[in-house]
Amino acid sequence: MGDAAMSLAKYAFMNGEIIPWDDAKVHVFAPIAKYATGVFEGIRGYWNAEHEEMYLFELKEHMQRLHYSQSVMRFDEIVDGDTLIDKTIELVRANAFRETVHIRAMVFVAGEGELGARGPVGTAITVVPRPLPKAGVDGCSAQGSSWVRVSDHAMPLRVKCNANYNNGRLAMIQARADGYDAAIMLTNQGKVSEGPSMCFFMVRDGVLVTPSVTSDILESITRKTILDISREYLDLDPVEREVDRSELYGAEEAFFCGTGWEITPITSIDKLPVGDGKVGPLVHRLQEIYFKLTEGKIPDHPEWRTPVYPQSQAIAPQ
Ligand code: PMP
Repeated sequence: MGDAAMSLAKYAFMNGEIIPWDDAKVHVFAPIAKYATGVFEGIRGYWNAEHEEMYLFELKEHMQRLHYSQSVMRFDEIVDGDTLIDKTIELVRANAFRETVHIRAMVFVAGEGELGARGPVGTAITVVPRPLPKAGVDGCSAQGSSWVRVSDHAMPLRVKCNANYNNGRLAMIQARADGYDAAIMLTNQGKVSEGPSMCFFMVRDGVLVTPSVTSDILESITRKTILDISREYLDLDPVEREVDRSELYGAEEAFFCGTGWEITPITSIDKLPVGDGKVGPLVHRLQEIYFKLTEGKIPDHPEWRTPVYPQSQAIAPQ
């Protein structure tokens, strides 16, 4: 352990400071370790080689959600979004990354408290290289999981709380053990909810459909972006509604979406092909527009992209 050559990045941010990656630690007795009392965001930074620039995609939206997550989890102190935005940019610059990255910003309960502890509050940000997933091109297979999606009246699912994640983790492990790439979970009422760390879309009778925000989903930033771009660029009229399991088997196209999963086509569900079992035309069009926007290859929606490097120069840390 502690071999600098093994580190994913040179620096991490922790509790107000940029520090060497290997020094970013929490104590095993802290509530974050014992009860997963943390909230976090996953954010992508897209490298545009032509612009020599890194664009952090929808950074403000992520930090707004992180603010909301902290208040719902009743942390003693709320770390404000602007501070986290500044620190994230500073950290990417310090690591001088010139490739597509994944950022994780986390606020958590540190110290030595028990279950009711609300502080002291710690913050951590990491940034690591993360190339785009291959499944984005080839598509993936999905299993209708026997793990039911935890309900919003049991855990606040609009909050990205670490403790929520073991539900999806078990669904993912089961799917992989059974030979699938991913899982689709149903709600307690038996309606389609989402996948582990991604939301679900399908095309039925030519209509783009996604489970409503009351289907025990995370209110995904990517989901909203896809709804927006489908209206703006493809002149579609997408529908947010309850989705039944048997509808999955009649979908012409289907895909997962999320910051990490981006737009990942689903080519089969429970071993039944989706459409003709190939990546569908609408998923493909959405991917094209999405990546142009994330990578800044078209100038539209500059409000979604936060450039990292001043004067388009990747600067080395001082
Ligand atoms: N659902 C869950 C449970 C998630 O963790 C994520 C990833 N943040 C998503 C959906 C997709 O959300 P977003 O588009 O905001 O990344």
